[in-house]
Amino acid sequence: MTSLLSAIIKPAMSAGYVYNPVYLKHDTGHHVEVAARLEAIIAYLEIEDTARRGGGWLDPDTVMSAGSYQAALYAAGGLIRAVEAVMSGEVTSAFALVRPPGHHATSGQAKGFCLFNNIAIAARYALDKYKLERILIIDFDVHHGNGMQDTFYDNPQVMYISTHQYPFYPGTGSLEETGSGAAKGTNINIPLPAGCGDAEYLKAFEQIIVPAARRFNPRLILVSAGYDNHWADPLAMMEVSVTGFGQMTEIIKGLADELCGGRLALTLEGGYNLDALAASVKATLDVLLGKNASDPLGQSSRSFGAADIDRLIEAIKEIHKLP
Ligand SMILES: [Zn+2]
Repeated sequence: MTSLLSAIIKPAMSAGYVYNPVYLKHDTGHHVEVAARLEAIIAYLEIEDTARRGGGWLDPDTVMSAGSYQAALYAAGGLIRAVEAVMSGEVTSAFALVRPPGHHATSGQAKGFCLFNNIAIAARYALDKYKLERILIIDFDVHHGNGMQDTFYDNPQVMYISTHQYPFYPGTGSLEETGSGAAKGTNINIPLPAGCGDAEYLKAFEQIIVPAARRFNPRLILVSAGYDNHWADPLAMMEVSVTGFGQMTEIIKGLADELCGGRLALTLEGGYNLDALAASVKATLDVLLGKNASDPLGQSSRSFGAADIDRLIEAIKEIHKLP
């Protein structure tokens, strides 16, 4: 896996991404979490590597084919490669464009389209290999990353912050789930009502994620980048736009620059509308490169009315004693 990283180098600012055609061998048949997701991104990014295509169901949502095990190993390995590239200074930030996704998988169980928990594995690797004192994981996928919360619930070295639609699959992610023992306070759930768009997400980022991250003061930031909260996504009921993903990335990048020398590694989680997914990943990479992101899909034409999340934000601040 030495040639996984494709780097886009710019003076003073660099970002790379990890991709390998093996991720397409995770054949899920008639399913929303399909190889076409990554193919759409790579085609959109104008990468010339064309993909080659290579069971049974592990749980009601999670299917496995002959190529899945290898793809899952490479997915975890791809994110590890991204972390290595960031930690070694090869690039400032890196995005692992991998599948299957990971944040629902626990150490013992594949779940919710996920086989191995890529980011949990990469975080563990970074803790062990680089002896990092603290790692922050930000998860903006529309679903709660139950597997991540599970893995680090009693580990004070890893702070997990998740924005997610709630109540929703997988059922976990209430604001009372805050970590245990010495890790109490290092698990921050931001359970958002359906219908939240850019404004609500940015409010949650600015009022919860930014102060929590500053207080935790991580040495590396990892991101579960899921784009299934885009308004065009078929699985969930959120209203985020491509522009909103760019703005969230801007905030996360700002935190990485301020707190940990820019060290930032992202991994792909959900996102099932192929046009929205490809444009959102491109916007994320553009922001990482300091470029203006464009939004070919625009804002949602549906109107749910602005969700009022002020009481929720106050409750989370109170529980986590945030300023
Ligand atoms: Zn998701």
